[in-house]
Amino acid sequence: MEDIKVKEVKAFGTSAADAPLEQMTIKRRDPSPHDVEIQIMFCGVCHSDLHTARNEWHGTIYPCIPGHEIVGKVVSVGSEVKKFKTGDFAAVGCLVDSCRECEYCIEGLEQYCAKGNVQTYNSADKHLGKQTYGGYSQSIVVDESFVLSVPENLDPAATAPLLCAGITTYSPLKHWNVGPGKKVGIVGIGGLGHMGVKIAKAMGAEVIVFTTSAGKFEDAKRLGADDVVLSKDREQMKRYAGKLHFVLDAVSAQHDINAYLNLLRVDGSLALVGAPEDPLPVAAFSLIPGRKSFAGSMIGGLAETQEMLDFCGKHNIVADIEMINMQQINEAYDRLLKGDVKYRFVIDMASLS
Ligand code: NAP
Ligand code: ZN
Ligand code: ZN
Repeated sequence: MEDIKVKEVKAFGTSAADAPLEQMTIKRRDPSPHDVEIQIMFCGVCHSDLHTARNEWHGTIYPCIPGHEIVGKVVSVGSEVKKFKTGDFAAVGCLVDSCRECEYCIEGLEQYCAKGNVQTYNSADKHLGKQTYGGYSQSIVVDESFVLSVPENLDPAATAPLLCAGITTYSPLKHWNVGPGKKVGIVGIGGLGHMGVKIAKAMGAEVIVFTTSAGKFEDAKRLGADDVVLSKDREQMKRYAGKLHFVLDAVSAQHDINAYLNLLRVDGSLALVGAPEDPLPVAAFSLIPGRKSFAGSMIGGLAETQEMLDFCGKHNIVADIEMINMQQINEAYDRLLKGDVKYRFVIDMASLS
């Protein structure tokens, strides 16, 4: 490990899968020549934070400080930093490093780094040892190559969720060529899903929302959906059988994936971004008769994340948020599990003082 100076900062995290989050102290490194030190103003609350804090994907290292939708102000920069200066707004998403030399990193697909990316929390920390700590904290120090610029016209708090929910939906929508003339289904209107609706609409597609919540119908239309389907109602589901070019599934819990594969046209694709704890059984005959593809997608690379932020800046897209204090995080997790959020909690980090 490098011999570097550290400073202690306040953070919020958990020391066990079944323990509530509470205030803790963590160490942040002093900025090295390529580092940017960011005072965190806002951090979005992603369902992945909850999955990780509660060890639902197994492999959580404790203590765990979640948070990967970070917007803040630059408070210091290393001597070699070119892109940022003190006082700038800056953002950090799900990645803080990667090998930077494998074929995927060179292509700008750092999220699929062959040697393993370094995620903002719960990854091995190359600098200080132990694990990386996320955005539920007062500050973070990140190599400038992994720091993003925030469009000036967007509200900084409502921009925070773009750093995960925004890029996780933008990347597959772009990869599967969503745009004019395409009918696209978005399944699950939570943090990711509501961003998926806004972005797919801005890309020019016809957007159909599939929700288990009748209470989200009006919102789905306001977010830009051309039509809304109550996914629990078989008759309503039949309306789109065999009609969709692409389906983006952002559901966080167990559900019947075959019902959504059935909505695809011949050669259509369903990409999973939602990451439930248990496997989702797929019937062979949900795929074979229509040469359909069942795929997955993980966040996005750095260049694409900046592209997404610029796209959102151009189209005036931000998340619909409910601001909370850091001390309300346990209550927010309980509400997230009930689908009771419209549509992303964002923590006002000034409350952690
Ligand atoms: P969220 O805000 O909690 O939204 C999840 C939505 O799923 C809910 O609003 C609800 O939508 C639907 N849902 C929940 N329980 C359901 C159930 N039992 N049956 C059917 N639908 C249900 O979560 P999020 O932050 O958007 O994250 C969604 C998932 O994506 C999580 O698993 C998260 O870990 C994962 N994720 C993946 C990536 C990636 O890179 N692939 C990145 C970030 C997050 P309706 O009320 O509309 O039905
Ligand atoms: Zn996330
Ligand atoms: Zn790599």
